[in-house]
Amino acid sequence: MIFDVPTMAAMVAVVSLAMAIALRCVSSKEHVPGFRLFSIGLLCHAIGVPVVAFRAVIPEAFSIIAGNTLVSAAFGFFLAAIYRFYLKPVNCKLVMVPVALVFVSTIVLLNQQALRFSTMSLLMLLQMLSLFMTVWVRRHDTSGNSYRLLLCGVTIGVLIFASRMIAMLAGITSPQAVWHPGLIQTWTFMSGGVFVLFTAVGIIGMYKDRSDHYIKTLAMQDELTGIGNRRAIVQELQKRFAESVRHKTPLCLLMFDLDYFKHINDCFGHFAGDEVLKTVATSVKTRLRISDFFGRYGGEEFVIILPRTSQSVGVSIAEELLARQQHQSIRTEGKEIPVNFSIGIAATDSGQFEKSEDLLKAADQALYRAKEQGRNRLSV
Ligand code: GH3
Ligand code: MG
Ligand code: MG
Repeated sequence: MIFDVPTMAAMVAVVSLAMAIALRCVSSKEHVPGFRLFSIGLLCHAIGVPVVAFRAVIPEAFSIIAGNTLVSAAFGFFLAAIYRFYLKPVNCKLVMVPVALVFVSTIVLLNQQALRFSTMSLLMLLQMLSLFMTVWVRRHDTSGNSYRLLLCGVTIGVLIFASRMIAMLAGITSPQAVWHPGLIQTWTFMSGGVFVLFTAVGIIGMYKDRSDHYIKTLAMQDELTGIGNRRAIVQELQKRFAESVRHKTPLCLLMFDLDYFKHINDCFGHFAGDEVLKTVATSVKTRLRISDFFGRYGGEEFVIILPRTSQSVGVSIAEELLARQQHQSIRTEGKEIPVNFSIGIAATDSGQFEKSEDLLKAADQALYRAKEQGRNRLSV
């Protein structure tokens, strides 16, 4: 199906303008680095595409120079916006040099249609590739899946400019035919609209994914020690308990509480107390496996969830933790603070537990017994 070029160009311009407005609306209440740049890029695209496409109506030289430079500037703004998204300083050379080259080559090659067409396609293809690579190399540090939509949109951009360049070099199309209805034009503008939608919705989604991740971290992480908080412990325990029942594997729970911590606070101050909590958390964490879960239940009480671990193995881990702590006093503000803890242990292979809370209660009772028996010990 072949469509009329000005109509398609107008549609791409409308989509770009609509997405530019949408981005401004979404980012108006809160400062989101990069949204404004992306929105300016969409605006350049919304103006640049019709300036290029309405060549029959507007002066040709203006259409070529201003139109191509605006479209190239749009991609430059997209790239700058992505740098800002990753909170990186904008790579000005990578952003501005291709735009400057587009501007200069449209002037120099004003009367050499075929060479100009191929040069424009090549420069914009390089811009698309640098957009793609900037997101691709950071994909592992990007939360969620929205970056894939952005990559999808940019891949379409790569295909658009690569196909235009190949079509010109292979003689499938001629510069004169470029603005007349044809397959290459229909493909360029139709997929150009998808490019705008995918990249704009992709960047909005990337911000949403990041803020979701941030909120989840706030909700599940203990601020002081950086390990899981009580909510995270309860959720993880429910999940692991259900897995243990389904797969008939043992699940062991260690609950430990620092001994005479109030005394540490009273003697050395709350700041030193906080340092002790952080150091104990870091030290215990290094001993655990990646599959284990460690969280701060509250105050100076911690919980370790050991999946696929029997009570006897749980006891040896607890013994090791106690032994390590005997030889470690914590140094803070120039003072050596001796720290011990008591551990309560409960495991699904040594009792009947209907739900995860029962296991937690059993570990808590065991901890209480360890305290009663003199502290700095474990109880099962
Ligand atoms: P026990 O051996 O029986 O566990 O005695 P304890 O002194 O450790 O227990 P107690 O419950 O009497 O006191 C706990 C103290 O922990 C009281 C509270 O002020 C302190 N605490 C709770 N959370 C924090 C915190 O985030 N930072 C600091 N520095 N202290 C905390
Ligand atoms: Mg205590
Ligand atoms: Mg306590």
